[in-house]
Amino acid sequence: MKGIKAVADLLLNYPNSRARYLIHKYCYNEKINFWLRAQFPDDSKQFLDEFKRIQISLIASYHDYYDQKKIGDQPKLFSDLYKRVSFSIENGRMALRSIDSVYLTAFICSMAASSNYLAMNFPQWIQTSIVDDVLKITSFNENISPYITNQIMMCVQKIKSKVPNGCFEGINHLAPIFNKLVELNNQRSTQLEPDDQSPDESLGLYDTPFKHSSSQSVLYQQLIAAKFNKFKKHKEEEIAKGSNSERLCKKLYYRNLMSSINPTSGAWLSAGMSHPSFLLSPFEFTAALCRRNTIYNTSIPTLNSHVTENPQNYQCPCYGRIIMIDPYGYHLTNCKIAGGAIRLHDNVVHTLVMLFRSLGLSVALEPLHVFSQIEADDERRPDILIRNPHGGGPQTVVEVAVSSFNNRNRTNNNKPEQVPIETEKQKTRKYGKAAEENHLRLCPAAFSTTGEMGPSIKKLLLEQIRLKLQLVDGEVKRSKVQKIMKHCVRHISAAINRSASRNIFLKVTKMVNLARHNQQNFSSSTFCDSTSSSASSSPDELVQQPTTRTSNYKSRCYPKLSLFLVLENVLHVYLDKYT
Ligand SMILES: [Zn+2]
Repeated sequence: MKGIKAVADLLLNYPNSRARYLIHKYCYNEKINFWLRAQFPDDSKQFLDEFKRIQISLIASYHDYYDQKKIGDQPKLFSDLYKRVSFSIENGRMALRSIDSVYLTAFICSMAASSNYLAMNFPQWIQTSIVDDVLKITSFNENISPYITNQIMMCVQKIKSKVPNGCFEGINHLAPIFNKLVELNNQRSTQLEPDDQSPDESLGLYDTPFKHSSSQSVLYQQLIAAKFNKFKKHKEEEIAKGSNSERLCKKLYYRNLMSSINPTSGAWLSAGMSHPSFLLSPFEFTAALCRRNTIYNTSIPTLNSHVTENPQNYQCPCYGRIIMIDPYGYHLTNCKIAGGAIRLHDNVVHTLVMLFRSLGLSVALEPLHVFSQIEADDERRPDILIRNPHGGGPQTVVEVAVSSFNNRNRTNNNKPEQVPIETEKQKTRKYGKAAEENHLRLCPAAFSTTGEMGPSIKKLLLEQIRLKLQLVDGEVKRSKVQKIMKHCVRHISAAINRSASRNIFLKVTKMVNLARHNQQNFSSSTFCDSTSSSASSSPDELVQQPTTRTSNYKSRCYPKLSLFLVLENVLHVYLDKYT
C-alpha cells in the first residue's frame, strides 16, 4: 500500500495532468488487477477502501481539485464522481474502471484459469474429463477447502445479486461455475461477428462487441453495464426532485450525460498525445473534464453573494436574453460574444478541410460565388466545397454548424440526437434550394459542443473513405475503413474539445480582468507602493501560454520526473501502435 501511495503522490506532483490520466489508466490500474487476481477476496477488502481514496485524489486532480481536505469534506460529490469516471468512454465517461467490479471478478477468474493445473496436482479436489472434445471439470470437492469454496461463492453471490440474469444464472455449485468461466474464456475464438449492426457499428466506430480477451472482461462488462444502467436511471429520476434551481442543475447534468453517450464525443480522450493537435495544457484538460463530468470549474469566477459586486460581470446577454454564466463552462464554450462561437466553428471547418485533403480531395475553403449561377448577387459563402468527390458525383458543399447540446431544439432529455438533426434541417432550409439549383450536393455537417456528429457528415466521410480505398486498393477492407474513420473522428473530436477549452480560457481571463478593473476603482487600501500594488500587473501578463509542453519541465524541480517522462514516451509509442 505504501508503494502504491508513494506512486500516487508522485503522480499528483506531475504537472502534466493529461499524461497523468493516461499513466493512471494504462499503467497504474492494470497492476492492481494482477495483484487482486492472486489474493483471497477477504484479504484485499481493506486494501480496496484505501485504494479508492487514492484514486479519488487522482481523479479530483484532473478537475483541478488538489486540496485533500476539501475533497474529504465533500464525500458525496467525489464518490459520485468516482462512480462516473469508471464507466467507459463510449458511455460518456473516462474508462477508469470500477475497482469493486474488478475485485469481484479477479479471484474467481484467476482460479478458473488455473483450474486445469490444480486438477493435475490435486486430483482429490478437482477432477476433469473430456466431454464432447472439451476438457470439463466433472467434480469439485467443496469440502476439501471450505475457505476457498466460501470465498468463491461469496463473489459469485455478489455478482448474481448485481446481474441477476448474467452468466451465473441458476448455477450454484463450483464445478459448473468453473466450467462456465472456462467457456467464457474460449468464447472469443468461436464468436462470429453479428449480422445486425447498428449504424454506428457499421461506421466502424464501435469495437466489435465480442472482442473480450478473457472471462474476467466478459464478467466485468456485465457488471459495469448493470451498474451503468442503474446509475443512469437514478440520475433520470433525480431530475424531478429538489428545488427549482436544483432541478435545473440535475437536468443539465443528465442532458450532458446523455449527449456524451456515443462513440465520437469522447474520442479525444483516447486519442493519446502523439499528434500536436491532441495535446492539451493542464488548464484545457481541466476545463474539458469539468464540462464532461459536470463538475464546478474552479477557474471560472462566480458571483459571491456576500460581497457587493456587479452581477452583470457574471451574466451574458449573447443569445438574446440575459443568463448567468454557469460554473461548468457550458455557456463559455460557444458564447457568441468576443468570437467564441465563431472560433469553435472555424476550427472545426479547418479540421474537416485537413481531413478531406488527406483523402485526396480538392477542397476550397469558403469559396466565393458558389451559388451565383442562378442569381448573380448571391454572396453566400458556404464553409467548404469539395470539387472532385470520389465516385464522380456532383460537387459537394459542406456547411458546418456547432450547436450547444442543451439548446432550444432539445425537447427530450433522452434524445440528444435532436440537436444535430435539427441543425441539419436548418442548414438544409437555408442552402438546400440554392444548392439544388446550382447542381451541387449539400452536406450539412452538424456537431454539438459535446462532440456529437450529425448523421450526414458521418455518411459523407464514410462514403468518401470507401470510394478512396476502392480507387487505391481495388478493394474495401472493413478494418481499413474503421481505422481511417477512427482517425477522422479523433481529429474532429479533439478540435471541438480543444477549441471549447480555449474559449473558456479566454473568457475566464476576460472575466478576471473585468473583476480586477472594478476592484481598482473602489479599493480603500490605496496607500501602498506602486510596485507592490495589486493593480499593477494584469493577469494576462502572468498567465502562462495555453500550450505547455512536458519537455519544459524536465527534471528541474521534480527529481523523479525523469521516470515519468520515460513512461510517457513509452505510452506514446504504445498508443500509436495499438489504438
Ligand atoms: Zn455568452
